[in-house]
Amino acid sequence: MSSARFEYAPDLQYDYAPGTRAECPLRSCPLWGSRIVPPELNPYSVAWLVGEAPGKDEEESGLPFVGKSGRELNMYLKRFTRIPRGRFSVGNILRCRPPGNRDPHSDEISHCESRLILDLDEHHPGIIAAVGRVSARWFLGCPVRMEKVHGLVFERAGRIIVPVYHPAAGLHSPRRMSDTIRDFSILGEVIRGERGITRMSEIQSEYGVG
Ligand code: URA
Repeated sequence: MSSARFEYAPDLQYDYAPGTRAECPLRSCPLWGSRIVPPELNPYSVAWLVGEAPGKDEEESGLPFVGKSGRELNMYLKRFTRIPRGRFSVGNILRCRPPGNRDPHSDEISHCESRLILDLDEHHPGIIAAVGRVSARWFLGCPVRMEKVHGLVFERAGRIIVPVYHPAAGLHSPRRMSDTIRDFSILGEVIRGERGITRMSEIQSEYGVG
């Protein structure tokens, strides 16, 4: 996990409920003024699902994973983890939508991550599904390739991290769909305590980063 730059001013409000109409208050953030899509935090969640950033439907509703990807996500959860979405916490690395749904830039991540770190510190989720490449890289702290790490089970900073393909990936390729099905099945097994951890050190030495 990258180090937090706590730019959050204590007098600004950040604890928005999902669906709240609020804008990013961080003037120095390139996405300043964009609508915030807060996470759905469930204090009794079995795991957290963290994607990369809201899309258009999420920006319009103020809710994470409600568009096409959200419907796919709900389906993978129900059918392959066999745990309904309502039992998870759901959010994103970025709280605002990057223009044109492009990948988040590193300066956007470094602004937004402080809030995510606060949420993680407050709620201590034991299991995190890092949904897609941006999230997997953030949680594993190294520039991993999804082809290498999806469906593996890592332990980092006292948390179990399971990188899974983004549910949208399966919409474009049957091969990705079967990978994604497998990833979510593994996530279900991890949550039920049926699967162990892949050693982080092996991946770290492969990528030469800590
Ligand atoms: N993709 C994401 O990564 N997050 C969302 O909330 C929606 C689509």
